[in-house]
Amino acid sequence: MKYVYGPVPSRRLGFSLGVDIIPFKICSYDCVYCQLGETTLKTVERKAYISSQDVLEELALFLSEFKGQIDYITFSGSGEPTLNSELGKMIREVKNLTPIPVAVLTNGSLLFREDVQEDLMEADVVFPSLDAVTPSIFKAVNVPCSSLKIGDIIEGLRSFIREFKGEVWLEVLFCRGINDGEKELERIKEAVGLIKPNKVQLNTVVRPPGGREVHPLNYAELEIAREIIGNDCEIIADFKGISEGLFIKDVKEEEVLALLRRRPCTIGDISKVLGANRLELIKYIEMLNKKGKLKSITKDGKIYYYSKG
Ligand code: SF4
Repeated sequence: MKYVYGPVPSRRLGFSLGVDIIPFKICSYDCVYCQLGETTLKTVERKAYISSQDVLEELALFLSEFKGQIDYITFSGSGEPTLNSELGKMIREVKNLTPIPVAVLTNGSLLFREDVQEDLMEADVVFPSLDAVTPSIFKAVNVPCSSLKIGDIIEGLRSFIREFKGEVWLEVLFCRGINDGEKELERIKEAVGLIKPNKVQLNTVVRPPGGREVHPLNYAELEIAREIIGNDCEIIADFKGISEGLFIKDVKEEEVLALLRRRPCTIGDISKVLGANRLELIKYIEMLNKKGKLKSITKDGKIYYYSKG
């Protein structure tokens, strides 16, 4: 399958069958926290980047063969799905094909456009984002196309919700030191009051985005954000990775090698000493191993790593 993936278990959507309608990585933003890495084509131009016919044929084939549970068919993309000018057509066709509800994940940046609003009208749930309200902070966190103005985006969200019959769940994603200041939180609260989404969900960076220096909020800080923005907000961040310690990108290769020169250690030992995330550490140690910088021995059923240097 080229465009259809999953169903993947999702906290917000149950079993979500993803439909990828934008090629890697075309987006109107280049968010500092983007898990897909840097935007290769930053644009606000809508066109049939992937043809609806190809997507729908593949989806119909998948649905005819798949016998498991699907709670939502979710339009997303390796970028911003509302850039696909055939989105509306695809949503309508999916509705003819199956009673499974349709969700759309969007950065919300084009919702001020009438054609985008129309395209989304037949969806059941729309998940837009709004990470900042102050123009300079909006630029810092979302790195948008220069023609996009945050005031228009907020107004677009507000006017869309007034007409839309389905649910809108607004996500705010926080990056430490960028969009988590008290003033900004107050402004986000005001914007939420105008937009009036059905739900507000607070999130933070959970994995280190490729090479970019972005750090998550901890749970207590997200609680403060919730208190300011409004207690109805839901915290949806996944803290499994964070609570285990620092991300491996905070640990310098030299620190690991220095430790392993002093004494052989298991992954657990290294994780404790350096406060690094265990799973990330496993990948990191494997990488050092492949580079020939480490050796390992097995003793009492445990693998100990040591540095050859
Ligand atoms: S809007 Fe989404 S896809 Fe686009 S840069 Fe931001 S996180 Fe990445």
